Order: sequence, then structure tokens, then C-alpha cells
Amino acid sequence: MGNPKAFLEIHRQEAGYRPIHDRIHDFGEVEQTLSTRERKLQASRCMDCGVPFCHWACPLGNKAPEWNDALYKGDFELAYQLLNTTNPFPEFTGRICPALCEKACVLNRFNHEPTTNREDECAITEMAFQEGFIQPKTDIARNGKKVAVIGAGPAGLAAANDLNHMGYTVTVFEKNEAAGGLLRYGIPNFKLNKAVIDRRIALLEQEGIEFKYGQAVEVNDAFAKEFDAVVISTGTPTARDLKAPGRELKGVHFALDMLSQQNRVLAGMEFSKDERVTAKGKDVLVIGGGDTGSDCIGTAHRQGCKSVTQIEIMPKPVEGPEDPQNPWPEWPRTLKTTSSHEEGCTRRWNINTLEFLGKDGKLTGVKVQEIDWKPNPEGGRPIMVEKGKPEIIKAELVLLAMGFLKPEHPAYGNNVFVCGDAANGASLVVRAMASGRQTAQKVNAFLSKNK
Ligand SMILES: Cc1cc2nc3c(=O)[nH]c(=O)nc-3n(C[C@H](O)[C@H](O)[C@H](O)COP(=O)(O)OP(=O)(O)OC[C@H]3O[C@@H](n4cnc5c(N)ncnc54)[C@H](O)[C@@H]3O)c2cc1C
Ligand code: SF4
Repeated sequence: MGNPKAFLEIHRQEAGYRPIHDRIHDFGEVEQTLSTRERKLQASRCMDCGVPFCHWACPLGNKAPEWNDALYKGDFELAYQLLNTTNPFPEFTGRICPALCEKACVLNRFNHEPTTNREDECAITEMAFQEGFIQPKTDIARNGKKVAVIGAGPAGLAAANDLNHMGYTVTVFEKNEAAGGLLRYGIPNFKLNKAVIDRRIALLEQEGIEFKYGQAVEVNDAFAKEFDAVVISTGTPTARDLKAPGRELKGVHFALDMLSQQNRVLAGMEFSKDERVTAKGKDVLVIGGGDTGSDCIGTAHRQGCKSVTQIEIMPKPVEGPEDPQNPWPEWPRTLKTTSSHEEGCTRRWNINTLEFLGKDGKLTGVKVQEIDWKPNPEGGRPIMVEKGKPEIIKAELVLLAMGFLKPEHPAYGNNVFVCGDAANGASLVVRAMASGRQTAQKVNAFLSKNK
């Protein structure tokens, strides 16, 4: 810790977002960066706590006090080396991690001004790329064993990266036309520029990982026999549906229909007018109050929507930095307002969807009703009760952003491992990467036993 008093003298400073009028018309990243001087000052605020709760809260176990100290001292090379001991792709988490570590930071408990770990992580990594500190490892000793990784999302990429470094010959099979999983085809470009993924994939290829695209693999005994081990990291492909009357109307879509298509359009792909899912000139209703819904709002704005409303069936979370039900250092389930919400949106809670309404097969509105949640006298889930009269929200586009179903897997042979969202259900990039890394360890332990 370079400056033991910095946390008393220097306030938390976030880089913030580009102004709304500037960012709303393009898909460039919204987040700005601090100057190197300001960034080092932010790093100096880390207190190197005796018990670093940030380290406990980060699923990858990132050692923020160590790399913040190196960053404060201006040693970006050491900072990256320390960061990279636990985090294989800090340029991803540095942009889109919700920063579980910052909520657990002792300074968050002290005055709600935690360290800026996520942004620090991004700054360290971008500087390391710029200065050439990140170079492919090309001297990996091969052990003669072959591993297949099915699915090139963050879980699969993290598993492939570790197994490759351990000496396994790794082939990644991906059903899409490019790698990244939801990093590429879920998260909008205004949160994560896809060139950042391409840069990392190029490194992984130079290090010897083979990527096979356009390959939807079904793992069966015959496939598993071709490899010493197989890692399944296929995510959560099934979105939760809302089977209300009128669901079949043109204009009712899953969130990913729009988000993945928009990312593909930005990558140069073309779609016919009929295929295109666009908010242009429309009143948009997003059903689901979470992060995917928020990404739909930002995308709808950039596509030129007329208006956007987001409804959520659950009550409004508590406002402010503290969650009495889930106190520090746990993750606070408080109201989150994202850059997309700031761009303009009506947000409502305790709203149930009754019916999709339409004319000539096309969506015109959605019948909804305000509800309340009453405690269940028998315990367990609260009971939903109707409140007020049904009302109609005008909408020509509905986006269903209500989460994903946890996949079920058949009983595989003992050389097959499942990781990431495919194993644990829909979660976060940092958890997917941590799961991929843990699975690489399990594969190595299994193959080392079965020499
Ligand atoms: C819209 C949206 C926004 C999000 N934003 C954030 C965020 O800001 N921060 C955050 O931390 N998390 C975010 N998440 C969650 C995060 O993206 C996921 O938790 C994470 O990507 C899961 O990683 P994964 O590798 O397990 O699965 P995925 O990323 O889903 O990757 C699975 C891959 O497997 C491939 N695949 C599937 N079946 C097959 C098959 N049979 N053969 C070959 N390949 C196959 C898929 O094409 C895909 O590429 C977001 C999710 C969504 C939907
Ligand atoms: S990966 Fe996320 S939780 Fe871990 S240190 Fe980085 S920002 Fe914090």
C-alpha cells in the first residue's frame, strides 16, 4: 500500500459515461477512461486490508490489493502479471463485471466510496496491451492429450486457455460464426466493443488453440471417445417464455432475438426487412427488470424507438447503497440504474402481463395489471394478489427479458465435464470464467490420474 491515508484524502472517482446526446446515436462503448494520473490516485485508495473482502467476493479470487499497489506505483507490467494470475481475460471483466468486489470493499462499508477495482482492471489491461506486455506463449510443452471444448463463451474460453497452458491440445467447437458466446451475441457493443474479443481470440489461436466455427456438437459416447476429455460450456440456450394469450403476434420477441441480431448487424451481417427485429419508430415494452432488459432499452434507443417502458413483476428494490436484507459484504439487491436507464425509460414494478393485443396479426399493445405481494401464511413464496384495474400499454415491439432456463444434462461418461452457465444456470461472466478455470483443474486431475 503506497499511501496509507489516500482513502481519507482522495474520493472515489468513476470515469463516467459519454454524454447522453453524444452516445445515444451510436453503438460505441459508453464508458470513458480516467487519465493515468487519476487512475493511479484511485488505485492508491486501496487500503490493503488484513482481510480483503474484495478477494473473497470475486469469484476468480482476484488479488485487488496487490495489483492496485503496482498500479499506484505505475508498474503496469507487474500489475497485469498479478491480475493475470487469477483472471485470464481482465479486459472483459474490466468492462462488464458488476464488480462484486467493490460492494464487498471495506471502504464501501466505511463511506460507500469503494475502490474502483473494475475500472482499474480495465486500465491495467489496456495499458498492458498497448505497451506489448501481453504476448502469446508459444513455448508450451505438449503432453500428447486432446481436449474438446464445446461452446466458446467465457466459460469455455477460460477452460480452453488453462488447459492449453497445461499442455493439452485443445479444440474449441462453436455453433456460432465467431467466439465469445453472450459476450459477442448478448452484451451490446456499447458495453463491450467486439474488437476486444477478437484481440483475445487472436492470442489464443497464436498460443495453439484451434477454433472450429459453425459446429453445433451433440456430445455422445462416440464423440467423447475421440478426445481424452470433453468440456461442455454451452450456456443457457432457452429463454424463459411468457405464455399469455396473443404470444404469437408479430412484434413479440425474446430479448436475444433483438440483441444478437443488432450485434451481428454491427459485425456486417445483413438481414431482410422481414427478419429484422428493430425498435425504430416504435413504442417498446421490455418485460423483465434485469440487466438483459436494460440492454434492450439501450439498444432500442440507438435503433430510434419512439418510447420505451420496462415492467417487472416483482416489487421495486430498496433504493440507496444498503440492503438491510443482505448487508455488507454480501451483494446488495438494491435498485440499479444503468447507463441505458439514464438514457430515458419508464420503469414500473409490481406489474403482471395478462395479454398481448394486436390487429391483423401485429402487436398493438399489452394488457397489464398492477399487483401486490402478500406474505404466505404457510411460508415460502409470497402470494400475488391483483390490485387496481387492467390497463393497456401501447407497444408495437415487446421484448421478453425474463431470464433463461437452467439446462438439464444427460448422464455423460466420466471424461465429460460441464461448466459455466450450462452447469450452474444463467449468471455472470466472472462466474462463468471461474467455473471454466475450476473445470480445467478437474480435467487435469482426471487426466493426470488416468495416464
Ligand atoms: C443480454 C445479456 C447481457 C449480459 N450482460 C452481462 C454483463 O454485463 N455482465 C456479466 O457479468 N454478465 C452478463 N450477462 C451474463 C453472461 O453473459 C453469461 O453469464 C456468460 O456469458 C455465460 O458464459 P458461458 O460461457 O457459460 O455461456 P455463453 O456465454 O452462453 O456461451 C455458450 C456458447 O456455447 C455455444 N453453444 C451452445 N450450444 C452449442 C453446441 N451444441 N455446440 C457448440 N457450441 C454451442 C453458444 O453458441 C455460445 O457461444 C449477460 C447476459 C445476457 C443474456
Ligand atoms: S472480476 Fe469483477 S469481482 Fe473480480 S475483481 Fe474484477 S471487477 Fe471485481
